[in-house]
Amino acid sequence: MMPMPRAHLSVEQAQNLAQQHYGIQGVVTELEGELDRNFKIQTDSGAFVLRVTRENLPEILLDAWVQSLLHIREEGLPVSKPIPQTEGVLWSKIILETKTHHLWMTSWLNGTPLCDHPKPSPEIYDQIGALVGTLRNSLRNWEHPGLRREFEWDVRQGIQVVEDSILHIEEPRQQRVVHETLGSIKAAMDGLDPDFEVGTIHGDCNDHNLLLNEEGNLCGLIDIGDACESWRIADLAIASAYALLDADEPLEALTRLTQSSFTACPFPEQEFSALWPLLRLRLCVSLSMSWVQQKRDPENHYLSATRIPAFNLLKDLLRVDGLEVEHSLRATCGVPPRIASSTSALQERRKATFGSNLSLSYDSPLHISHGAGRYLFDSCGVGYLDGVNNVPHVGHSHPAIVDAAVRQLRNTNTNTRYLHEGRQEYAEALAETFPDPLSVVYFVNSGSEANELAIRLATAHTQGSDWITLDAAYHGNTQNLVDLSPYKFDGPGGKGRAAHVQVAELPDLFRGRHSNSDAGMEYAKDLHRCLAAIAERGASPAFFIAEAIPGCGGQMVLPEGYLARAAATVRAAGAVFICDEVQTGFARAGEHFWAFESQGVVPDIVTVGKPIGNGHPMGAVITTPAIARSFDTGMEYFNTFGGNPVSCAIGHAVLKTIEKEGLQENARRTGEVLLQGLQELVDEFPSIGYARGLGLFCGAVCVRPNSKEPDAAKASRIVNQLRADRVLLSTDGPHHDVLKMKPPLVFQPADAHHLLSRMRHHLKEG
Ligand code: PMP
Repeated sequence: MMPMPRAHLSVEQAQNLAQQHYGIQGVVTELEGELDRNFKIQTDSGAFVLRVTRENLPEILLDAWVQSLLHIREEGLPVSKPIPQTEGVLWSKIILETKTHHLWMTSWLNGTPLCDHPKPSPEIYDQIGALVGTLRNSLRNWEHPGLRREFEWDVRQGIQVVEDSILHIEEPRQQRVVHETLGSIKAAMDGLDPDFEVGTIHGDCNDHNLLLNEEGNLCGLIDIGDACESWRIADLAIASAYALLDADEPLEALTRLTQSSFTACPFPEQEFSALWPLLRLRLCVSLSMSWVQQKRDPENHYLSATRIPAFNLLKDLLRVDGLEVEHSLRATCGVPPRIASSTSALQERRKATFGSNLSLSYDSPLHISHGAGRYLFDSCGVGYLDGVNNVPHVGHSHPAIVDAAVRQLRNTNTNTRYLHEGRQEYAEALAETFPDPLSVVYFVNSGSEANELAIRLATAHTQGSDWITLDAAYHGNTQNLVDLSPYKFDGPGGKGRAAHVQVAELPDLFRGRHSNSDAGMEYAKDLHRCLAAIAERGASPAFFIAEAIPGCGGQMVLPEGYLARAAATVRAAGAVFICDEVQTGFARAGEHFWAFESQGVVPDIVTVGKPIGNGHPMGAVITTPAIARSFDTGMEYFNTFGGNPVSCAIGHAVLKTIEKEGLQENARRTGEVLLQGLQELVDEFPSIGYARGLGLFCGAVCVRPNSKEPDAAKASRIVNQLRADRVLLSTDGPHHDVLKMKPPLVFQPADAHHLLSRMRHHLKEG
């Protein structure tokens, strides 16, 4: 971090400098400032601001400020006037504690900053817009070489600045909201041709710099320090960003600002598309830079002044549809709407290139270009609250995960034949999350690969040939795993059950045979039937595999004690129990880090995938030392990519983020809200037959009214209606009648309420 180059001088020294260089004497008080030291000098005949710049400020920039102020004043705008020194110069060099600084002075503008007005009248937004428009007009042909500079507050650098500084935001909720907003901004900006007009801008028409007189009317604009060459629309975006902070009705304020600015100085049509992203980008820059600068200069409270209001505003604006805002601003200004790009061409290209059984979600498919936190964004920057993707576990594109990946990619990515500390530390951290004796880790590249390896481990250990799986289960996409998955072999295109596979009854408390308090024990008895069938064909069992909460089975929370009894039953017959935690693991279950813990069982082999790498393809198998020894038959186990240092860095960052952000507790708390809300829907609507879930893994069963008969059409209709509401869910279960909820673990109680209220709305409509 760079040391702060602020000048070191006392109020007395400032007083002396004013006297010495300007012949001005008065009462001196210090003003707030980011990098420069500013002092108000109150004299009998008026007030001035004495300015002492940061160390080694380029003189060309100082000259640009002074000349720009003179120019803007000449154009009739209410900005302060540079005051010449007694020798006639407008600025001079001074040495303070052996460091070079510069001294200059301006007149004092009367007025109170907008931010200090608790309730500005709505007309103020017309006035700010008009001022910004007039400013744009007055700067149309104004250039200065000092203004063409690399500057972190230039909105053109904004995305990079936020990406570079986001990890400095130490408050996880603030970091997430900035990250999510940035995702939406990138999605919106990437789709634009950024051929916006470039020229001189003031760069900081913020609520501290806009002054109001006693009547509450706009009377001044201060602080030229951020003037630079940039997109000319930036002044309106910046003014809007801060004006919205204080507004009761932010969107009305934005409309007023834009309309009056456009009236004073019409701007090119495509710049309407930049306003919404850029105004939020400015708030993101301000918030993240405040954390960076706080580290550089912990004493300077000015830097964090807008942090909380900016966070609150950004949070509220996340659910606002930017495209609608743009359309309404265009309409207000009499500008035609933007034609959004269509997805049909991309769909056609996809058809030509990919196998036709690669399906697309929703009646009207989504074209997703970005994701951040809880949201996915389409190519127009419209955000969709993600209630269904359990892979981006700690949030889409989480900055800590990206950072871990990039750092490790820069160093090396090799294989497990070399020692590597990062891999070792990650494997130990992962093993640490399991109960004894689960302590040996194998890294693979997907859930399917994990289950394939689990089959090999179980087979090596038991020498068994036959497999037992749960009805409606899905365990992966290889031939072996399709054979192990009734969801596939009994589904469309399936070839039915293979002879070496037995299917145990799915313990369904809603539609199944048992629903009393003994249901777990009753359903587990079916394992005896499976074992008998294996014995009958003269074979022996290798394993029983089950998810701790069957997902494709329809988010089926298992009855108490089921897995413990089932595992004991198959173990007694010489088989092992494989628990597939690909969907349910890593704190999703809330109460427990691993969903199997809710069943009071310790599996012999656990397979994990999906959330393990937050979207980076990886998986793992965790087993006991005894099974690992059986697998060591003399044949080497090698996996080219499994356990590579980049994957390990990512996996470790996921574990640390779950811990750091308290995501297990969040899953528990938000899951409770969600499940309770779903249960209320069951009570209210005869077409929702049942609700079940654990943590953030929930489902609601759609039925024909007042029956248990599956209603897949209803489930599909609701999912498509929610998609139109910009909330993403899917359907699952063998009858495709279950509304499936398994959001990223950063899903908040407020998100659950939003989802539930949209569901209720559509259910009411029938
Ligand atoms: N097991 C379960 C329970 C799954 O849900 C899945 C994927 N849906 C898999 C295994 C296979 O994982 P992958 O697609 O990563 O191979």
